[in-house]
Amino acid sequence: MPVTTSGLERPGDERRKRALRLLHRELDACVLCPKMIRPVVHGGAVPSRVILLGQAPGPREGTFGKPFAWTAGKTMFGWFERELGVDEERFRASVYIAAVARCFPGKASGGGDRKPDPGEIGRCETWLTREVAILEPELVIAVGTLAIERVTGMKSPLANIVGTTLRARWHGRDVDVIPLPHPSGASPWHRIEPGKTLLGKGLQLLARHPSLAGIRAPAS
Ligand code: SF4
Repeated sequence: MPVTTSGLERPGDERRKRALRLLHRELDACVLCPKMIRPVVHGGAVPSRVILLGQAPGPREGTFGKPFAWTAGKTMFGWFERELGVDEERFRASVYIAAVARCFPGKASGGGDRKPDPGEIGRCETWLTREVAILEPELVIAVGTLAIERVTGMKSPLANIVGTTLRARWHGRDVDVIPLPHPSGASPWHRIEPGKTLLGKGLQLLARHPSLAGIRAPAS
């Protein structure tokens, strides 16, 4: 049965959902970055107090019309299922999934996906500013080094920050930040020590965070 409620509802969610739908209509038509490969990819209009921020969609996400739709997503949703007891469908219905850039940047010359450039990051950030104003988030799950840098302003090695909860001022909001490594198969960091243990600690922090306290409640 499709999940229709998140267990994390707040007063004002219907207004937030309407505002997100309008924003997504504008976002879908965005052509601000000439090097980016459309379509624009975004998650559902989920009026959540928790935002998951990734880097950018990969080559497959546009086809599926949702972020984290391919192998990296499979890994990441596997983490959440294992440590939070929440499957992919429920997670997507409970957490607003955004990214530093919403279009596929293409491949880098050395292999792997190209990192969005500063101009692209700046242009796409205008969408995030509006989303944060609508959602008034309390917690940001920052996935991967670029997302962590953009939310916290810190350029720390993953080993120093994964497994901790940080505080940051982000688009005018004071938020908790739980950094996680990128689940991409291109980086072995989360599969070998100390990354494996630190990832487990970060996921335990997520499981205990009060903003996610209702996520396991049965749908009604
Ligand atoms: S990356 Fe963001 S700002 Fe650039 S074209 Fe895509 S949606 Fe627009």
